Formats: sequence, C-alpha cells, structure tokens
Amino acid sequence: MSSLLVDNIGELVTNGTGEGPLGIRRDAAVLVEEGRVVWVGPSAYAPAADRRLDAGGAAVLPGFVDSHAHLVFAGDRAAEFAARMAGEPYTGGGIRTTVGATRAATDDELRATVRRLRGEALRQGTTTMEIKSGYGLTVADEARSLRIAAESSTETTFLGAHVVPAEYADRPDDYVELVCGPMLAAAAPYAKWVDVFCEQGAFDVDHARAILAAGQAAGLGVRIHANQLGPGPGVQLGVELDAASVDHCTHLSDADVDALAGTAHSDGSGTRTVATLLPGAEFSTRSPYPDARRLLDAGVTVALATDCNPGSSYTSSMAFCMALAVREMRMTPAEAVWAATAGGARALRRDDIGVLAPGARADLVVLDAPSYLHLAYRPGVPLIHQVMRNGVTP
Ligand SMILES: [Zn+2]
Repeated sequence: MSSLLVDNIGELVTNGTGEGPLGIRRDAAVLVEEGRVVWVGPSAYAPAADRRLDAGGAAVLPGFVDSHAHLVFAGDRAAEFAARMAGEPYTGGGIRTTVGATRAATDDELRATVRRLRGEALRQGTTTMEIKSGYGLTVADEARSLRIAAESSTETTFLGAHVVPAEYADRPDDYVELVCGPMLAAAAPYAKWVDVFCEQGAFDVDHARAILAAGQAAGLGVRIHANQLGPGPGVQLGVELDAASVDHCTHLSDADVDALAGTAHSDGSGTRTVATLLPGAEFSTRSPYPDARRLLDAGVTVALATDCNPGSSYTSSMAFCMALAVREMRMTPAEAVWAATAGGARALRRDDIGVLAPGARADLVVLDAPSYLHLAYRPGVPLIHQVMRNGVTP
C-alpha cells in the first residue's frame, strides 16, 4: 500500500477540527493512503510515507465542490450574452437555442464538451462537479445526456423539466406526463438526482411537484431551481419535498427563509435543505445578487456553485464565484470558502468530500498563496498550484 504525505502546509483548511469555522491548522501535514485521508496533524509529527509532496508553506484546502452545473450541450450563446450586455433582458428563452444545437450534436461532440469543461474546472480546483441534463428534452436525448454525464461524474441530475420544448408549447401538461413517465424511466439508470426549473415561463408549482415526486418515487434525490427570476413557490416546494438543495434563491420572502431555517438539524450543524447561490448567473445576466447575509444570519446552510452553462453563466471558476460572493453578497472570505467546499458537499448530501479529516476522500488543492483569503482578495488570478483528486494528482 503506497502512502503520500503532503507536508509543509502553511495554512490547512480542514472544515473539521481546528481554529475557527474553517478548522484551520498551521504548519500542518496530511497523510493519504489509497485515495483517502488517514491522518492530519502538525508537520513536525508527520508519520513516514512512501512519497512526499512539499506544499512549500502555502495554503491547502479541500477541493472545491461545484454542486450545480449544466455541461451537456452543444454550441454557445456568446451573441446572446453580447446582446444582453447591450441592454436586452434575460428571460431563459435562449435555453431553446441550446436545445436545438444539442439535439443535432453527435454523442462524441457532447462527450468532448463535457470532458473539456470538466477538465477546465478540475484545473481550477473543482474535484467534484454535479452535471445536469436538460438540453435534450426528448426521451432519447435526455437519456444520452445523462449517460455521457455519468462518464464524468457520479453526481448526475435529470433535468428534463428545464423548459417546455417548442413542440409542446401549446400542451405543457402532455410534456409533464412525458417527463414523469418514459423520460424519467430512460434517464433514471444514469441519474442520482431529479431537478426542475420552477419559474414563471418554465414549470409551475403543480407541474414541478408532480415531476419531483415522480423522480423521488424512482429513487432519485430532489433538487430544484427556485426563485431565480422572481418570487415564487419553488423554495417552499423544495422544503416540502426534502430537497437536498434549493438553487438560486435570488428572490426570497420571509416565509421562504423561515421554511429553509425550519429544516435545521437539532445538533446545530446547519439545515437539511441547503440554499445554493449561483452568483455567476447574476453576474452574466446583470441581475441583483441573492442576499447571502440574510440566509446565513437565519442559520440556513449556504453553498456556492457556478451554474456553468452556455446561456446565463458560462464560467467554471469556483474562485470567481467566491470573489463575487464576498464582494457582492456580503459573505466573509471564510464563509465563501466553506460554502464552496463543505457547503457544496452538504448540497449533495455527502460527508466524504469538502473536508480534510481522516476517512475523507483525498481531494485537495494547493494554492499559489499563503492563505485561503487570497481566493477572494486576488480575483481572476490563477492561484491553484496543484490539485489532488482521490489521492492522485492528475
Ligand atoms: Zn442551473
């Protein structure tokens, strides 16, 4: 059995035991065996190992957990972005442009895009990435989207209810029936989660409830796109269905915040339903940011994710999202780092990632900086010096 010691870590973010909410340890080392962390402690007391990775006094963090991304698509929407920056509003209608391109693409073209974006994210420190379908919107195209997604992630999400496709525009009830029946049956073998875009112009609360309940009955966990473009029932529906995460949360009422806070675990470890904030979407659609401070002050567990997609947020950079969260959403740098690591893990109901403690997966990043603070303090700068996933440096 080969062991690897990462030592000479100036500042180790564990999200476990240590100083402050990030569980920080100084002059630390991490011992890795068979893809798992087996020991964390002071560098000076580190056990012997077969190999050594010298962190050079830099900061080491758990790998980023991006719990919301749409990577299975073809084409891009750069022209739509340019038009929006010139003053046109974002409505979500552009999703149909990507649906046309995705249906026309070959499996290999879709696979190449997923691999390119997954690789791009990994080089920027993202060791876990959720991947949704949602640009196929036929039984065959949703199933193949998830089959391709499952080649790159175990966190795959069936989003057949992204928008009502043009051919069903006059009969959305029939489309919902298709999603709950044959489409779900074809998608479920490749999916861990079910998701719905619950929004004016997409799916209303009754349709969303039917689809999520059908997914649940097929053994999938629930997540939901909610309250992005305006106030609505999505967040409370997510709480009602024990969603792991309600995503976007840009327009919340007091009752929405109370509903999320009401899912708090009795041991004080946060809420069972996580609010996942996606500031890349507000950046790219020039919209008001969600109020992270309000959620955090109410005791709601918050995650940060990229929403990487060709329309409303074409970034794969978790560091960029953390910088936005700190600058625009009143999160502290420590809260943003926690939300991008442990928070993302909670949003996926995982306890083996987002943390560096014995038993956790050996997913970590070595920064080209002395502290996690630099992630928000030095926006746009490539600070990821080295990435390790499953104990392996790719
Ligand atoms: Zn999304």
